[in-house]
Amino acid sequence: MKLPVKGAGIKKPKKALDIDFVLSVDRCLMSNHHERIFIGFAATGPAIGVPEKLWKWVACPPPGVDEYGRPKVAPYALRKLEAALQNRGFKAHVVDPDYVPYYALNGAKALMIGHHDYFALGPPSNEWWLLTGRTPVNRKSFIEFISHPAIWEAKEKYGMKIIVGGPAVWQWEACGEALKKWPVDLLVDGEADRVIVDIAERVLEGGALPRKIVVNPKDSPRIADIPEIKLPSVGGLVEIMRGCPRGCKFCSVTLRPLRFMPLDKIEREILVNLESGQGVVLHSEDVLLYGADGVKPRAEPLIRLHEMVAKHLDEYEAGFSWSHVSLAATKYAEEHGRVVSKITDLVLNCDNRKFFGVEVGIETGSVRLARKIMPAKAAPYSVESWPDIVEEAFSILVDNNVFPASTYILGLPGETEDDVIKTIELLERLKPYPSFIVPMFFVPMGALKDREGFKRTYLTDCHIDAMVLSANHSIKWAKWIIERGYFDKPKYTPLKLAVEYFMRYAEKKIHNYTRELEVKLHY
Ligand code: SF4
Repeated sequence: MKLPVKGAGIKKPKKALDIDFVLSVDRCLMSNHHERIFIGFAATGPAIGVPEKLWKWVACPPPGVDEYGRPKVAPYALRKLEAALQNRGFKAHVVDPDYVPYYALNGAKALMIGHHDYFALGPPSNEWWLLTGRTPVNRKSFIEFISHPAIWEAKEKYGMKIIVGGPAVWQWEACGEALKKWPVDLLVDGEADRVIVDIAERVLEGGALPRKIVVNPKDSPRIADIPEIKLPSVGGLVEIMRGCPRGCKFCSVTLRPLRFMPLDKIEREILVNLESGQGVVLHSEDVLLYGADGVKPRAEPLIRLHEMVAKHLDEYEAGFSWSHVSLAATKYAEEHGRVVSKITDLVLNCDNRKFFGVEVGIETGSVRLARKIMPAKAAPYSVESWPDIVEEAFSILVDNNVFPASTYILGLPGETEDDVIKTIELLERLKPYPSFIVPMFFVPMGALKDREGFKRTYLTDCHIDAMVLSANHSIKWAKWIIERGYFDKPKYTPLKLAVEYFMRYAEKKIHNYTRELEVKLHY
């Protein structure tokens, strides 16, 4: 039964859908990030040097909606759950956050939210928060979203359930007051593609929901249980595999089984995105392990995958990138059949695609620490050669017009000053390679989830030296990449100006800080 529209000042869609299950998230994730996904990371920090409104516009502008208030693009994970529910006949839709209050008060049985950093406790948000002492934009944005009175009115008066999940669901329990302030009904921890259907059935039957559902790695959905998206994802992101075999102790992904998506499934999702004007981002924890033999990349499945992608990229004149690759797989793939070169020759074949970016994990420059916390990160090579692998892989990527956006971790359990110095030495070696290098503070996750996270009081001069070095590196190469056309279209001019302004501001801050440090050291 439809309820009359409630709530003054609530944004109404032009036409209303009959929706039982509203899937959504706050604006920081419900955005196309100006079709430059990397820009979205700005929302993990506080607004610096500009008003927050402008900062938010730069990081996460609204993606546009249809007449029903459904976003033109949405986070991939929400699209997966939407498809899983629709396949089973449920009235489920991803809704733009602006229209969630309307649907909450007009018949929704459940609001389902997925997020990868609800309260900004994960990297890199926690780091900017700790360094600046100011609340990150993404935390404010989520709190504003979840605090909307219509959501709580719908729960209290009409029994709407509030269900939260995604990789950051742990933050609801880690963030002291969260469950008291926003008493959501159910936490879903783990891959939800299959369990979401049981949850929806229970909601419609009016049965009680448990407080928490944990999908253990052994119960992770099989390929056949993973639905295909029906509508476009942010950035044109498409998953090619799940899981990672490397077993780094600080990572939760590694606990999940490895599954490769079949080529035809990947192709259908790519076409959903291309047909709506998106590009292609191949997503995996390590794209070069698609179809691999353990941690050894294999040329054949990788070339077949990229031949299929390249054919469609040409047809739609679309952009392309990878989400993540590991540095060891990059080196191995190139040394065994020039696979990286062959792939980039396939996909970077026109003016529209001259280079692309990818996230890579450096984590540490210390072999001693690498041996302790990520012994298989260098595999199939020896962990003793980790710093050399990092530099060689950077060289391979850069030579093939792939721009690494890399991270390293400060404050890992058992870290000594010498470990940080080794990381600084590695950062020095990486100076000539066009790339971003971003520090992260250790957050307890994976096998290290019971260890203590990094605190401001743990910051040493060595940590600060590493951060200054990597900030200068990233600013230098950000200017370089902008000059080479990262914001080449006229529609990007305001964005380009905003990013350039921020870089000048950050440079000034770093310069002032370095001078203060010199004064401190000399007097
Ligand atoms: S390589 Fe990356 S995804 Fe795999 S376990 Fe290590 S940190 Fe996690």
